[in-house]
Amino acid sequence: MTSLMQAYPLKIPQDATLRKQLDDLRDLVTQASQQLLTELWSDHWIDTLAITTQKKQKKAYKVINEKRVSLTTSHGCVVYLPSRIRRCIAEQVGRILRSQVTRKDCYYDVLRIVQLTGVEGNLDKLVRTVALTLANFEGKFYRWALIRQTLRLFRRYYYQLGLDLNLLRQFPYTAMVKPRIQSFTLSYSPDDGQAIHYDWRPEEDPATIGIRLKVPCRTQPSQCSHWVWRKFTQSIPIKIQPRITSPNSKLCPPTLRYITLKSGLILPFLECTWSVDHHHTKQRSPHRHSLRANRVLATDLGVINLTTSVICEAGSQLSTPIFWSPSNTILHKIEQLYHHIARLQRKLDRYPVHWCGQGTRHQELERLHRKLNRYRQEILHLASNHLVETALRRECKIIVLEDLRNYEPPTHLRKLSRKLSNWLRGALYEILSYKATRVGIKLVRVNPRWTSSYCPRCGTKGEKISDPRTRHATKRGRFFYCGSCSYLADRDYIAAINIYRMYQELRNKRYSLKHSKPVPYMATGIPLNRPSGDSTPLLVGG
Ligand SMILES: [Zn+2]
Repeated sequence: MTSLMQAYPLKIPQDATLRKQLDDLRDLVTQASQQLLTELWSDHWIDTLAITTQKKQKKAYKVINEKRVSLTTSHGCVVYLPSRIRRCIAEQVGRILRSQVTRKDCYYDVLRIVQLTGVEGNLDKLVRTVALTLANFEGKFYRWALIRQTLRLFRRYYYQLGLDLNLLRQFPYTAMVKPRIQSFTLSYSPDDGQAIHYDWRPEEDPATIGIRLKVPCRTQPSQCSHWVWRKFTQSIPIKIQPRITSPNSKLCPPTLRYITLKSGLILPFLECTWSVDHHHTKQRSPHRHSLRANRVLATDLGVINLTTSVICEAGSQLSTPIFWSPSNTILHKIEQLYHHIARLQRKLDRYPVHWCGQGTRHQELERLHRKLNRYRQEILHLASNHLVETALRRECKIIVLEDLRNYEPPTHLRKLSRKLSNWLRGALYEILSYKATRVGIKLVRVNPRWTSSYCPRCGTKGEKISDPRTRHATKRGRFFYCGSCSYLADRDYIAAINIYRMYQELRNKRYSLKHSKPVPYMATGIPLNRPSGDSTPLLVGG
């Protein structure tokens, strides 16, 4: 049984006194957290907190004693903070320190690699090199965004400060990275009603919630009496009520946050959180799968279907083809983006550079390109996840892809699917190899030459046809027809099976389909589990 957190922001009334008191609270808590964080900022504390997470001791304030929390103003006055507020601060700082452990490990690992490779050159390439090196040689996986951040840091040392990277090894992580509390959050989680209190009776009035909040009534409170309770009520929308009141859910202590609006206005609000227990949660741990050493997922990267895969084992085909393409919604969005970009580009080309509005158009064009890139990245992740998940579900140890290192995409074809497909072919391999290695799947590339021209069932050369009824041979036909055994199928499907045949040849150190054995279709009982959204018609019989 797991629980899921849900939250709803409760606005705080626009009352001038209360706002002033909350601003004071924010300043006090920020200063105290910053002081505590600076005091504890060391590799030792990060490790201590990380170890306590492993021991299932989740409360960080129990590791950091709340008595450590203190605040002294610049004039030397000691500020009085109620013990529950101090405990909340200790918890918050503990969580920040705990969250640093991955960053710290990543810092040392990346540092070790860049001492060999240097940090110069294209950042994207560098991120890729570092990530793949760590994954392949040490079996360590970090989010690429984190590796990128770490590399940026090293580049800053290198370019701006002229530091020798070998010198960095002598300093701990915490000496090179300075802690900074960027946004204010105060989680009341270790508080048991002594700094905040909900007064809510769902049986009587589920629409209003009363809140009592302890706030300072002076900018620098020096004793207990300088803290007062403030009361206000807020309404809970009808949509949210049943979610909080359902028997599975439990109201949790809120978090106080400040958000900065676009206008520059800073607003405080209480994040009302509740946990919902789930009895039926899917176990999605990939390590639970056992993989069969000889089972192969052979995949063709096509145009109509971005990926077409078949599962093969020991010389025979075990499954019907598995087609995959991104959803039409995302394809439609990409198509519209291509149109926008083309239109803007035409306008940019038509008028001179200094012409009115050209600067804005340039900015807009850059924005659209960034957006396009995000969509492409999304498709890339979807495609690679689909392949890895399929392989895991069908227990394939090996994924075979076509090797496109020598592939030159046809430039005269302008259709969207072709553009996408050509681009995907180039980018998919790396991300897929990263994700596959992580779950213990091997990725193999084979020469795709002639894979869509030979019959996989009898081995003779067939023809490309555009219409299965007339069977006229055309150069760009969608289908494949074998004159010798009259086998008829989708070309992507044919290519996927032939990719498997190429893979078998590769194991015998042969690089063409000439002597390759045909692959029969064995209707084994492998469950297909085709996703319900996948309505691609199967064109073939076995
Ligand atoms: Zn044939």
